[in-house]
Amino acid sequence: MDVQMAPDEVEAIFSALAHADPAPKTELAYTDPFTLLVSVVLSAQSTDVGVNKATRGLFAAAPDAASMAAMSEEQVGSFIRSLGLWRNKAKNVVALSKILLERHGGEVPHDRAALEALPGVGRKTANVVLNVAFGEGTIAVDTHIFRVANRTGLAPGKTVDKVEQGLLAVVPERYLGGAHHWLILHGRYVCKARRPECWRCAIARWCRFPDKALYSKRPTGPDGVSSADDSLRSA
Ligand code: SF4
Repeated sequence: MDVQMAPDEVEAIFSALAHADPAPKTELAYTDPFTLLVSVVLSAQSTDVGVNKATRGLFAAAPDAASMAAMSEEQVGSFIRSLGLWRNKAKNVVALSKILLERHGGEVPHDRAALEALPGVGRKTANVVLNVAFGEGTIAVDTHIFRVANRTGLAPGKTVDKVEQGLLAVVPERYLGGAHHWLILHGRYVCKARRPECWRCAIARWCRFPDKALYSKRPTGPDGVSSADDSLRSA
């Protein structure tokens, strides 16, 4: 059974992440809660860079719920065809814009149940909107956060719900606003899925990943193999 990380270790981890990046923010390009919501809906199985490329034209044509609701699914689709699942996403974006107009005066509701009632919006998307647009201490567990929480031992769990609950239970209150971004960015750029960059990791001291020693030296070879792997390479 996993032994819970001690509060001072959790504190040290978030203190180090906060020190390295004092003002973390989403990499999605948005200007208000509506464009944030649409961007997050479009981001399923797509990169933030890809979403930003697609939304540049889309938001120029339809910057708010009223103009988006007036577009056809085909029109929305013409802007987002580079994204996976674009047909379904276009359908959801038009439908959620209509609901925002009908039920919420065209505004994005600051309410989890109302957000999750929108087409294409699940718990993860609602968590991102509540955190980024409304400053709530929610954590949207994506693939990066799931990996970091499990590798480090911060909040081990086999499901995203378990990891989310675990993180909410251990992350100190004052770090809850930034925890979502710190963990995502750490997973995206340092604690990478295939080859974690433990050699430059700000939280390596407290991390419980059993293989971290394998990645503790800066890569030297052209293939990115760490100097720690040299013995394996020449074997
Ligand atoms: S030490 Fe390595 S495995 Fe642990 S959090 Fe840092 S990059 Fe990830």
